[in-house]
Amino acid sequence: MLKGKTALVTGSTSGIGLGIAKALARQGANIVLNGFGDVDGPKAEVSALGAKVGYHAADMSKAGDIEAMMKYAAETFGRVDVLVNNAGIQHVAPVEDFPPERWDAILAINLTSAFHTTRLALPAMKKANWGRIINIASVHGLVASAQKSAYVAAKHGIVGLTKVTALENATTGITCNAICPGWVLTPLVQKQVDARAAQACISNEEAKKQLLAEKEPSLQFTTPEELGELAVFFCSAAANNVRGVAWNMDGGWAAQ
Ligand code: NAD
Repeated sequence: MLKGKTALVTGSTSGIGLGIAKALARQGANIVLNGFGDVDGPKAEVSALGAKVGYHAADMSKAGDIEAMMKYAAETFGRVDVLVNNAGIQHVAPVEDFPPERWDAILAINLTSAFHTTRLALPAMKKANWGRIINIASVHGLVASAQKSAYVAAKHGIVGLTKVTALENATTGITCNAICPGWVLTPLVQKQVDARAAQACISNEEAKKQLLAEKEPSLQFTTPEELGELAVFFCSAAANNVRGVAWNMDGGWAAQ
């Protein structure tokens, strides 16, 4: 379905981003990976699916790095047809104790980076009259949880950015939609599981059960593979007129 097209997935060396990169690679897209930590492993996993793979180490909190990454993608593969804004971080604390520098970092990485990649990707998508922009928001783009002020603000913000981008391009072949996962067991959530286990002196398994029971009626984690398939659907012709949605895959979390 995506043969000859190029997908850039921010924060794709791990978790959800890597799951989406692999799902898009299976559809034949060239993939530009981004993110920190081990790069060789994710690169090998994506190339094993037959995709041409590029990588850029841009720090999503830096506008200059993002410009360099978008330039690299255009020079390497021609243009970005599918942009997945996925990079994200978390910090948990009450508002009055929330470190201002953590607030700034979360807003920059989870929200402002998507503004920069989107504004830089749109001109080439407009020329081609085809594009898919997929923003990985969260169920926290729809509802709030205590202790997550910056994250909830950034995720509500990216749902807003999704709607505006969709509207501005509504008469073109460019769509923009958001995906709102509930709990997904990635390193980002494992940190929260570890903190809960340590604080309550319970096992990791018990901490996971409690985490799910609190918010997620299905009592199941969503997987990166399931989210990858939703991203593939947004790229399909069947989704040509799906514009500006915030689609939760959250085990019933936001239905409560
Ligand atoms: P993760 O920690 O497994 O992966 C995050 C990725 O972002 C990694 O590749 C990391 O290297 C990259 N990254 C972090 N800071 C970066 C920076 N400054 N510049 C470039 N890359 C950076 O986390 P994940 O759970 O896969 O999260 C991915 C996205 O999904 C995030 O936006 C997160 O908010 C969202 N999300 C996660 C969950 C969940 O339960 N895990 C739920 C809803 C939404």
